[in-house]
Amino acid sequence: MLIVQKFGGSSLADPLRIRLAAQKLIKTAQEGHQTVAVVSAQGDTTDHLLSAIADITSAPSRRELDAYLSAGELLSAALMAMTIEKCGHRAISLAGWQAGLLTDSVHGNARVLGLQNDRIRKELEQGNIVVIAGFQGIDAAGNVTTLGRGGSDTTAVALAAFLGADRCLIYTDVDGIYDRDPRIFPDAVRFDAIDYTSMLRLAKNGAQVLHDRAVELAQEKGVEIQVLSSFRPGPGTMVGSY
Ligand code: ADP
Ligand code: ASP
Ligand code: MG
Repeated sequence: MLIVQKFGGSSLADPLRIRLAAQKLIKTAQEGHQTVAVVSAQGDTTDHLLSAIADITSAPSRRELDAYLSAGELLSAALMAMTIEKCGHRAISLAGWQAGLLTDSVHGNARVLGLQNDRIRKELEQGNIVVIAGFQGIDAAGNVTTLGRGGSDTTAVALAAFLGADRCLIYTDVDGIYDRDPRIFPDAVRFDAIDYTSMLRLAKNGAQVLHDRAVELAQEKGVEIQVLSSFRPGPGTMVGSY
């Protein structure tokens, strides 16, 4: 099988958590599956990067802002690949542009259009766990783009669709999708499964657990998503057409 596993910022916030995620990836690879990882920037890195610009300019160009913000995910992809190697498995990190993730040219909120090359497949065939920097791509003119806040979810779904993955797992800091934010409402109820339309409604109403574009793309391409906790065992929530 080909399995895409995405880890959000809180799942990568420190070296211990990166190792925990690396171990999940290695387990998948050792079970004989082709393993693609998608990583977000560590912890609140993207917010920190944004606030650091304030001392330079209050109006950065959108092109340079994307070039700058994409770095958060580049760092965590390389860190993840190093961690996997340190644990004894082959790995390679790829920026969005190296992976050939083509987008439109809307800086800051680019839409994914397709995969331009077969680098991921080649690296998988070499026995690598392929770690892709989430949240970013490249437009037809060769400029780095970003996919909007929370966009690493969309990277995972896009790769699952374009690579024809058998599974798309999204690891986060809650153990699935709830009817309301479980961090704010302790009595929120977890879904075992939720259909795309209901999930899209939640995402559009601000449930950041899944990027709304990721849900739209999943529905369009028929990608089933499993949302689960990085830290607690459990089946999480399936997002599909039910
Ligand atoms: P990641 O860093 O893994 O991408 P996010 O912070 O983007 O994670 O999304 C996970 C957060 O989404 C949870 O910590 C939770 O507070 C929030 N959230 C909001 N609404 C929901 C919901 N309906 N179900 C689950 N989580 C939700
Ligand atoms: N790092 C980006 C953000 O904070 C993308 C993501 O986490 O999905 O929005
Ligand atoms: Mg997120």
